[in-house]
Amino acid sequence: PRLSPGPQELQLRDVFIAVKTTLAFHRSRLDLLLDTWVSRIRQQTFIFTDSADKGLLERLGSHLVVTNCSAEHSHPALSCKMAAEFNAFLASGLRWFCHVDDDNYVNPRALLRLLKTFPQARDVYVGKPSLNRPIHASEPQPENRTRLVQFWFATGGAGFCINRKLALKMVPWASGSRFVDTSALIRLPDDCTVGYIVECKLGGHLQPSPLFHSHLEALQLLEAGQLLEQVTLSYGVFEGKLNVIKLQGPFSPEEDPSRFRSLHCLLYPDTTWCPPLVTR
Ligand code: UDP
Ligand code: MN
Repeated sequence: PRLSPGPQELQLRDVFIAVKTTLAFHRSRLDLLLDTWVSRIRQQTFIFTDSADKGLLERLGSHLVVTNCSAEHSHPALSCKMAAEFNAFLASGLRWFCHVDDDNYVNPRALLRLLKTFPQARDVYVGKPSLNRPIHASEPQPENRTRLVQFWFATGGAGFCINRKLALKMVPWASGSRFVDTSALIRLPDDCTVGYIVECKLGGHLQPSPLFHSHLEALQLLEAGQLLEQVTLSYGVFEGKLNVIKLQGPFSPEEDPSRFRSLHCLLYPDTTWCPPLVTR
């Protein structure tokens, strides 16, 4: 008898990467991503913003998604973008949904390595837990009652991934306009809402991973050797100081304050704008 073919080995072309941004950050943040990691995984990456911009449209074409969401830093506006990302993923038919912010560096090879570790039969929600304990929310019940719920969620600012098997189960709370409604119900931001749906509605669990990083942690603590293995990195200001990964070069902190260009040259030394490798 012929053996039935096993599941196809996961490839990067099975992964949908959504980047959340806003008009004000197109020049200051997005150009950096397009020059670096996005250039290596362009076909899989979709940028979700609130306003079109000629320069960006020229660089991204159909990979720029201009949502009808407002350009505000409010829970509804941010949930509206997450909903647009999730709906576009559902429509794509791809196997994995990954969300990142516009101040994240994604290492595609490390991402694939991580996603390959999960058996296909499992529901997977993987990312960096936002807190060291579950968050509490009150869930409205009939007759003006509320129920206290608690759940873990992955920080949106560190990026997270969900496989299609789980995403399909999330549909009743997350597809179409329902994600925004769910977020409004528990009055929490978009990333918390994802955790709420997975853990409280579906009985699933966040799979914690130390490979995702936001600028809410001390990024200089990552060792040089570890940097190339991380799935996501970030940069930002924390307690009044620039919070960035610690990397020697090849670019100076003035030329490359986020350190993303230097990191990119270590990962992809064949990049045209990277200095030639020193021959030993
Ligand atoms: N963002 C947005 N609309 C806004 C402000 C921010 O879509 O009005 C996005 C921004 O592009 C980023 C994410 O939300 O992808 C988080 O924003 P930021 O890094 O400025 O804030 P943080 O929460 O990390 O301090
Ligand atoms: Mn940020």
